[in-house]
Amino acid sequence: MSIATTNPATGQVLTSYDPMSDAQLDAAIERADLAFRDLRRTTVAQRGRWLTAAADLLDAERDETARLMTTEMGKTYAAAQAEVTKCASACRFYAAHAERMLADEPADARAVKAARAFVRYQPIGPVLAVMPWNFPLWQVMRFAAPALMAGNTGLLKHASNVPQTALYLEDLFRRAGFGEGAFTTLLVGSDAVDRILSDPRVRAATLTGSEGAGRSIAQIAGRELKKTVLELGGSDPFVVMPSADLDRAAEVATTARCQNNGQSCIAAKRFIVHTDVFDAFAQRFAANMAALRVGDPMDPATDVGPLASERGRDEIDAQVRDAVEQGATVLCGGEKPAGPGWFYPPTVVTDLRPEMRMWSEEVFGPVAGLFRVSSYAEAVEVANGTAFGLGANAWTTDPQEQERFATDLDAGNVFVNGMTTSFPELPFGGVKNSGYGRELSALGMREFCNTKTVWVG
Ligand code: NAP
Repeated sequence: MSIATTNPATGQVLTSYDPMSDAQLDAAIERADLAFRDLRRTTVAQRGRWLTAAADLLDAERDETARLMTTEMGKTYAAAQAEVTKCASACRFYAAHAERMLADEPADARAVKAARAFVRYQPIGPVLAVMPWNFPLWQVMRFAAPALMAGNTGLLKHASNVPQTALYLEDLFRRAGFGEGAFTTLLVGSDAVDRILSDPRVRAATLTGSEGAGRSIAQIAGRELKKTVLELGGSDPFVVMPSADLDRAAEVATTARCQNNGQSCIAAKRFIVHTDVFDAFAQRFAANMAALRVGDPMDPATDVGPLASERGRDEIDAQVRDAVEQGATVLCGGEKPAGPGWFYPPTVVTDLRPEMRMWSEEVFGPVAGLFRVSSYAEAVEVANGTAFGLGANAWTTDPQEQERFATDLDAGNVFVNGMTTSFPELPFGGVKNSGYGRELSALGMREFCNTKTVWVG
């Protein structure tokens, strides 16, 4: 894949880059290693000041940065502005709380026959971050803010279609005060990942991306005995039970499916509805989806912009056609439009069966699968019936059912009567083929720390 900015609303290539040479890559890794030796000796308070400066820059540069993201991957301008603001908040969150998260944790000295014993959290070194284009600023920031606060340095291999956002991030941290080499963007393709992760100076890796990329990085890291955090794909269930507020559920379902033009790992993708309310929900949901405005992502009236790539649009089109050819019913959308740009209409497909691709695959675009179930047990069975386990939504006002869903849904995040989202205050990650490890909260910061036991006799 070439490293280039291509506007998905027009298909026009705007800027392209040559990948870094081996010598440039080696020098960048060397700088990250040298920078680590300095950064680990700075105080948490100092790093907090730099991260706060990064937050201030993000706020000041919100609109230009948002325009850049919209141009590179097609999200609506309003969504891009909100993403910049969310990144600034995450920086401030870690600047404010890192001291507590990284403080020594005393243990019961008597129980371990010591004069004193405690746990100390220390940075581990340069960490490779392989990141996707769908939230090009946020996915990087939720790694970078805690990692830099802990004293690690970052090497970013961003998706090949968002090189300018990647370069912006390196520049942001430099201007915020972090030294040369603390955060470096590597303009390379995915074929360079093996070489980077095999380098002894690189101590760990985090990937947000597809299952295939996750398997590949986990294999390299296994061979090299390096820690990884993997945030992979999802096919999140959105379960609607008879007691649910249907108007609200159908409204949130629409946003949950079409946020980020349908290209979010935690978008609700499979809508599993109890038969007692199936028709009422389906009618509301399809009407809401059909009413969304598809168009220029810079236009404030647009709800859904183009998909990020032609390949991505072809993939969802093939998934929908596969279902339709095998007897599924389209309630709205379902036709790839002609003309420039990689647009696809919000689509609802029902009468799905296990042999159809949409039953088990992730659908990475504004296409919802609608499933009818006749009991709580069947709802849970269908919800848990894919290889993924990232997020899950349940809609019910019955307190006992809420409690049971929280336990029974096989997912890293369960949201009841609300849309799955991420907060710096709460851990984020998946189970099963959605990956392992956690980002955000104190857990996310400690993934790339040496949790050192100290015992003093
Ligand atoms: P992708 O192809 O896996 O790309 C993600 C990143 O991995 C890019 O930087 C890509 O580089 C790199 N990459 C691809 N194949 C690789 C390989 N074999 N070895 C090493 N690196 C490799 O993902 P995508 O299709 O663009 O993004 C969408 C996927 O990401 C979806 O499955 C989505 O659910 C998932 N996602 C998960 C989360 C989460 O938090 N769990 C969040 C967002 C997205 P190139 O661009 O150079 O190919």
